[in-house]
Amino acid sequence: MPHSASITHRELLPHLVVLGAMIVFTVVLALWPQSILHVGYQCQLRALLGLRCPFCGMTRDFATMLHGGRPTLNPCSWFAALVVYGVYPAAVALAWRRKRLDVFHSASVARMVAVALAAMLVLNNLP
Ligand SMILES: [Zn+2]
Repeated sequence: MPHSASITHRELLPHLVVLGAMIVFTVVLALWPQSILHVGYQCQLRALLGLRCPFCGMTRDFATMLHGGRPTLNPCSWFAALVVYGVYPAAVALAWRRKRLDVFHSASVARMVAVALAAMLVLNNLP
């Protein structure tokens, strides 16, 4: 299905917001990690069910990785870093160049994300 330029730009905007937020979050975690790490938020899945969500530990792991350390709190932090700093920006750029940003709304992408989140949930709760 052909896309007009305005539709493509409108579809690109949410990805630019996400990419911008990732840049801001990375800069803050790299330069002022305590400003985020001392917020003291609590994971609602952990509070309600006692399970670690797929992202539990990643903020501290990302701060550790940005300062040259190895992540130790979530076994999926390396994978998440690869997605955040490589796969997702590359996929957005490729889809934008090919005018196929609609691929992010496809059932196959939704399935891949669901499978990845389920795997991360399991891996983050292994003893
Ligand atoms: Zn969590």
